[in-house]
Amino acid sequence: MTQDELFKILVAHCKEYGFIFPSSEIYDGLAAVYDYGQMGVELKNNIKQYWWNAMTRLNENIVGIDAAVFMHPSTWVASGHVAAFNDPLIDNRDSKKRYRADVLIEDYLSKIEEKIEKEVAKGRKRFGDAFDEAQFRATNPNVLREKAHYDEVHERYKKAENANDLAEYKQIILDLGIVCPISGTKNWTDVRQFNLMFSTQFGSTGEGANTVYLRPETAQGIFVDYINVQKTGRMKVPFGIAQIGKAFRNEVVARQFIFRMREFEQMEMEFFCKPGTEMEWFAKWKENRMKWHVNLGMGAENYRFHDHEKLAHYANAATDIEFHFPFGFKELEGIHSRTDFDLGNHQQLSGRKLTYFDPETGESYVPYCVETSIGVDRMFLAVLSHSYKQETLENGESRVVLSIPAPLAPVKAAILPLVKKDGLPEVAQEIMNDLKYDFNCQYEDKDSIGKRYRRQDAIGTPYCITVDHDTLVDHCVTVRDRDTMAQERVPIAELKALIDKKVNLNNLLRNL
Ligand code: ATP
Repeated sequence: MTQDELFKILVAHCKEYGFIFPSSEIYDGLAAVYDYGQMGVELKNNIKQYWWNAMTRLNENIVGIDAAVFMHPSTWVASGHVAAFNDPLIDNRDSKKRYRADVLIEDYLSKIEEKIEKEVAKGRKRFGDAFDEAQFRATNPNVLREKAHYDEVHERYKKAENANDLAEYKQIILDLGIVCPISGTKNWTDVRQFNLMFSTQFGSTGEGANTVYLRPETAQGIFVDYINVQKTGRMKVPFGIAQIGKAFRNEVVARQFIFRMREFEQMEMEFFCKPGTEMEWFAKWKENRMKWHVNLGMGAENYRFHDHEKLAHYANAATDIEFHFPFGFKELEGIHSRTDFDLGNHQQLSGRKLTYFDPETGESYVPYCVETSIGVDRMFLAVLSHSYKQETLENGESRVVLSIPAPLAPVKAAILPLVKKDGLPEVAQEIMNDLKYDFNCQYEDKDSIGKRYRRQDAIGTPYCITVDHDTLVDHCVTVRDRDTMAQERVPIAELKALIDKKVNLNNLLRNL
């Protein structure tokens, strides 16, 4: 199965099992807007909890806020979004489809990378244990040819990006012969800039309506509240402010399910530090955030840093944490050293003093800031795409299982009476009533036990607990493990401890 096909199956699975629905589907949906269903909301909440607790509980100098979506319009002037939050846009005249010019070129580059990796994989297969990857990469003519082509295109693209040269973007697309995937033609328009902010009217026209924006990032809420938090919380630099909330971007191309949405959710933390110490903090947060990801057990090889070559004018360092999505390594989280750009601009435009008085040195300064910014929805997609597996069992049957890291699983345990009679439902209900205060549990008594196991596998429930006739005598239940499918008899009295060991979020947090 190709990664493309797998991705389509995953999208269908998300809908079938109540993880994600297209928004307003009865009206044929709304492009790049999605709703989280009964399972999705649980997984999403668990992801947010993992992030929130890691930030605000494990760090005594990080506190949280929840700022409004609407902000004073000057916010977006100070932040630079009104002037420069643009994407380079290009249309194909035949398909009438719109694309991001930079993404078309980046996709072309990714394809060259894929070709190189395929060559390397072939070499590995051919030479077996004797394979010397470094030497192969340095000498194989096919690899060298592709690499030279990659470097040439990459250099040209970066130059155009740095110079913001829209005509050159188009020329690169034409020179590379990039075609529209829908029409297959090269009938491209010129490239132009497109601002991604949604605007709306605030207040009735009678009282003088004002254009306001739906925030395109949550970070600015933190910057404008920074002085309130610092003063009321008596925070000493260095300290951080964390926030989880909705953000809105009128994305040009939004065809990758929840990877790129027009309404999405961010988890952002701004860490304020003394000017001159920001690189140290940048390095620390890079390490800290990577650890948070790898700690979930989804394979360290599925993450990588991608340091930015082109820095935004306000940043003095920036990196992405990329995840191996079904469509390749793509940005999951951004870590940026933003200097005093945001606070400095807000100070200037608002006329309010946003300096910090350092009681130890007697200096006053506008703090520098290191930001960590991750999309909840992208994280959700990372977890789901990694977890989705189609397995063939020893008996020839197949199953679909979501091996979601247990503390993030929507349902932690399913309680299943073997039959709907003989007093088994009553015992099962009793277990349910006891466990439901600690874990999100599901009680299911319909269909054969095998079918019920499959349904729980498909939503990623770590434990299935079956109550059978023996339970009435020995007060034990059969506990089936989602991943190994191993079954063991466990006394009812020990259930809570057993489940807790695997699913308690605190166990994950303790490893950080
Ligand atoms: P991209 O280059 O993919 O457009 P970005 O660099 O614009 O992303 P940032 O502005 O750094 O993204 O936003 C921080 C994080 O917010 C991203 O790493 C991503 O996880 C998430 N994010 C950004 N845009 C979207 C979107 N349209 N849909 C879902 N998540 C998003």
